[in-house]
Amino acid sequence: MTSTVVRLKPNRDKPVRQGHPWIFSGAIEHIPPAAADGDIVDVTTADGRWLARGYLNRRSQIQVRLLTWVQEPIDEAFWRGRLATAIATRAAIPDMDDTNALRLVNAENDGLPGLTVDRFADYLVLQAGTLAIDQRKQFLADLMLEMTGCRGVIERSEMALRRQEGLSPASGLLAGTGPTGPIEVVESGLRFAVDLEHGQKTGFYTDQRQNRRRFAAYCRAYAHRAGRSPHVLNAFAYTGAFAVYALNAGAAHVISIDSSVEALELAETNLRLNGFDPDTAAEGVAGDVFEILRDWREDPGGPRFDMIVLDPPKFVQSQQHMERALRGYKDINLLALQLLNPGGILATFSCSGLVDAALFQKVVFGAAVDAGRTVQILEWLRQSADHPVAVTFPEGEYLKGLICRVL
Ligand code: SAH
Repeated sequence: MTSTVVRLKPNRDKPVRQGHPWIFSGAIEHIPPAAADGDIVDVTTADGRWLARGYLNRRSQIQVRLLTWVQEPIDEAFWRGRLATAIATRAAIPDMDDTNALRLVNAENDGLPGLTVDRFADYLVLQAGTLAIDQRKQFLADLMLEMTGCRGVIERSEMALRRQEGLSPASGLLAGTGPTGPIEVVESGLRFAVDLEHGQKTGFYTDQRQNRRRFAAYCRAYAHRAGRSPHVLNAFAYTGAFAVYALNAGAAHVISIDSSVEALELAETNLRLNGFDPDTAAEGVAGDVFEILRDWREDPGGPRFDMIVLDPPKFVQSQQHMERALRGYKDINLLALQLLNPGGILATFSCSGLVDAALFQKVVFGAAVDAGRTVQILEWLRQSADHPVAVTFPEGEYLKGLICRVL
């Protein structure tokens, strides 16, 4: 077997030896000119000792993403083995009998850099984040279809990462047959309409499943202890999933805010699917969360809440935007704290990987100080177990949240 060797600079081998899957351009001494981007390459130390095998893309800051640390061929058996292991990991997760929407392949964290696959009932949604995966996506889609027995694989490769890889967005049916319209999935026994072809990202955020269950548990506890059903605000609602869980757990009323009118329509559909009347049990407000919460705060007769969910999109796209993004997180948390009744519960999230749990907690602390409210953290939350984090890859941890009680 001929192999293409990418040689590292001296003393740059430690992260590779420890299993980190990324090699940045700065660590690389030499890439053979004949190697094509997307090719499988071997990585060696500066003095030529073999370290690992991965795939190449010179256009990316991360020029090599590693696939294996043993000398095995990257052939069909390799991909099949990795996919089977990823599927087996999901089978080890408890409390999934009432759920058919989950992440089956979580990229680097499943030893498959650049590849994300979600399952929604009988369909798979594939995202190819890198050139090498893009080149192999048809093969991978066929394999996944065969291994899962699903009906079709739809591509939704629209992530920002693709630009850094020199790729433009791609979407459409990759294998099998696609659905004729939105499909229905079940999560925690609740029903949700998912538009696989047109929805945001892969159509439904399964990373919040455990946290939605936890939030619902707090709704139940609130109703039980306070002897009164909570009034809930679901800010950045998207599919209204938190609203459905809250009403199912005994909330009196839920207001959902989203800037997207289509999202609010989807949220209405989901309320109806679960037997809730979107006109009496709930309200959808279209607009900017920052502006709406500010208006309500200024209005003494405006809405106040017993429980608030803040689940904003990723505010921090890069280190450059960190400061502005942190101000954004602080603003919404400050506003939410000011709109909560005494004894109220705030479930607040950040899905920005660059904001770690300690920093996020600091932001909430700052908001509490400015709001002049006493805040207790009851729980620290993370992404659901079907979004595992490889211990060798701390970058895989992105979603974090706090459940707070506000006095
Ligand atoms: N909580 C949701 C996921 C939220 S995704 C769930 O459980 O599935 C983030 C949502 O925030 C998107 O639907 C997006 O349309 C909305 N959004 C982004 N910026 C916003 C803003 N400034 N005001 C209101 N909604 C916003």
